[in-house]
Amino acid sequence: MSPLAPLLRILLLLGLVCSVLAGADFYKVLGVKRSATDAEIKKSYRKLSKKYHPDKNPDEAAKAKFLEVGHAYEALSDPESRKIYDRFGEEGLKQQQGQGGGFHDPFDVFRNAFGGGNQQRRGQNMIAEMEVDLESIYKGDTMTFSIAHKAICESCDGTGARSEKDIVDCPVCEGRGIRLVRHQLGPGIFQQVQMHCDVCGGRGRKIKHVCSECKGHRIVQTTSELILHIDRGMPEGAEVLFEGEADESPDLPAGDVIVRVRSRRKEGGFVRKESNLYWQETLTVAEALLGFKRTVMGLDGHEIVLSRSGVTQPGFVQTVKGEGLPVYHESGHGDLFVEYSVVLPSTISSSARSSLQSVFNYHPDETTKHTEL
Ligand SMILES: [Zn+2]
Ligand SMILES: [Zn+2]
Repeated sequence: MSPLAPLLRILLLLGLVCSVLAGADFYKVLGVKRSATDAEIKKSYRKLSKKYHPDKNPDEAAKAKFLEVGHAYEALSDPESRKIYDRFGEEGLKQQQGQGGGFHDPFDVFRNAFGGGNQQRRGQNMIAEMEVDLESIYKGDTMTFSIAHKAICESCDGTGARSEKDIVDCPVCEGRGIRLVRHQLGPGIFQQVQMHCDVCGGRGRKIKHVCSECKGHRIVQTTSELILHIDRGMPEGAEVLFEGEADESPDLPAGDVIVRVRSRRKEGGFVRKESNLYWQETLTVAEALLGFKRTVMGLDGHEIVLSRSGVTQPGFVQTVKGEGLPVYHESGHGDLFVEYSVVLPSTISSSARSSLQSVFNYHPDETTKHTEL
């Protein structure tokens, strides 16, 4: 065996470790060729980042994928860093970023790819009211819901054209979006006025063949599934924000979807008052007079024992400490208020009647007779 063999093995091993550390190929991550145009990279990122966004996909693998496509897009969307990546790989980028501060928040990257985070104007927000069961607010819950909204046409990437070749400079304004119009003010006196080109709407471009998917409208109607997380004890009317999930437009960053969460009222069920709960319990006369022990099923299925030994008046409210809703973002629970009512039997037997008369020492038959006399 050559004395160099162990060294060679170590070097081989090092090589293996390095190639693992070098990370994924950013082009592969985005599913584009190394020769892809900026538009192709952006289009692919938009598609993938929406697919894996935590608002739509709860599992951890999707989240990792979201971060991964964010990194890849950030590296390849900037011409400078793409050049460095192409020549020196991810290591080269890291060295460059060592001076400039590393990757950005992948959620900022996401916002910027959908219209630019610095723009002041944004699309309108959409507000949705959502009623959920009190059980969900008690235990916390995750639910999927869908919203209909407008999306940038993926087929043409919001250009409205069948292909890039179908986008041509406007023949009237020659791509400038404006026209110069000469007005004659008097003999030999002209004034030049700049006007918005009305042929291309000031865009400077005309489309020869429109995209068959969106018919040139640049947007399509679509439905998105979003995931709503309900925190334990979430207050009534709490607003959950889904950033950039409202109508998309090629010209403006999309507004947000805001979901207002309220609890659904169920007849005969618990009623919420902040972190406290109300419950109505009906007793028999015997229970009201002699005491009772009953159980009520709590919102998570556990048994709440209601018991009293003495007389319970109709309308009496008993406080059961700590049996309310969880206190939002804190430990502990609110209280449960139980309001009692008493139901009388519709008839009683004559023997029960005479027993009651002697117990209460009350004889209405005689009283009535006396009054009649
Ligand atoms: Zn024009
Ligand atoms: Zn289209």
